[in-house]
Amino acid sequence: MRLGRFKAGDRVFIGAVRGDVVVDLEKTAATREGFLKDKPDFSEMNSMLTRLDDLAALLKGDHESRVVHPLSGLKILPPLTAPDKIICIGLNYNEHAVESEMELPEEPVFFCKFKSSIIGPEAPIMIPKVSNQVDYEAELAVIIGKRGKHIPEEEAMEHVAGYTCFNDVSARDLQFRGGQWIKGKALDTFAPLGPYIVTKDEVSDPHNLKIGLELNGRMMQDSSTDKLIFNIPRLIAFLSQLFTLEAGDIVATGTPSGVGFTRQPPVFLKPGDVVKVIVEQVGELVNPVVAEA
Ligand code: ZN
Repeated sequence: MRLGRFKAGDRVFIGAVRGDVVVDLEKTAATREGFLKDKPDFSEMNSMLTRLDDLAALLKGDHESRVVHPLSGLKILPPLTAPDKIICIGLNYNEHAVESEMELPEEPVFFCKFKSSIIGPEAPIMIPKVSNQVDYEAELAVIIGKRGKHIPEEEAMEHVAGYTCFNDVSARDLQFRGGQWIKGKALDTFAPLGPYIVTKDEVSDPHNLKIGLELNGRMMQDSSTDKLIFNIPRLIAFLSQLFTLEAGDIVATGTPSGVGFTRQPPVFLKPGDVVKVIVEQVGELVNPVVAEA
């Protein structure tokens, strides 16, 4: 399934994209006898992620009884707006650690963003007044679908609901000033996400996906998730030793080489730019860039 949040008029709903239409999950469920008995919250992606089998069952069978909307008539919202945690892994591709002149980490390095950082596809990335070194980072984000603590590596993939594209937008001047990174990473609009959560059954191998980023149509990052230093089970096992992972949590797995600040001369985002994150089998996430008003 490709699950997204959509807006039609004043109504926000969660749907499954099928070609050029979106299946309205709540309205389709209402046509199925017994499906709403335990009253799932159809407006909330975190709870939908714990019911992927039910949603898949809803999409099977009689085509006529599905309530659909043409995708072209809908606004696409960020697929998640209220994760308990947004965890971003740093320095998880060899060549990116080298270009950043940082030591290769012996265990995963991470930092966090806030809910207020999230924007969806086509929403503008805002260059804040306090930075003139805003950079891009294409990343594969893992979306957790099942709560867990102390998750063993062998069971880690059972806790994954799916994947989406993520842009770890970073203000380098703030990031490298003062010894910790959150100040340069957790600003408003610095977590573009989407367009959809692609459930794991639709991705052949998350550790063998082309990942790239285009800035104004020019390829700036071009790599593969087969270069991840710490793979997804390792990350989930490591993080879940520290805190409980919840359905809806986002784990951004790190960026490959080709970011702006390591280039000669450096490349930073400016108003009018358009940034596109591309992850094979997962999608394309496009965001324009504006200045803070
Ligand atoms: Zn990153």
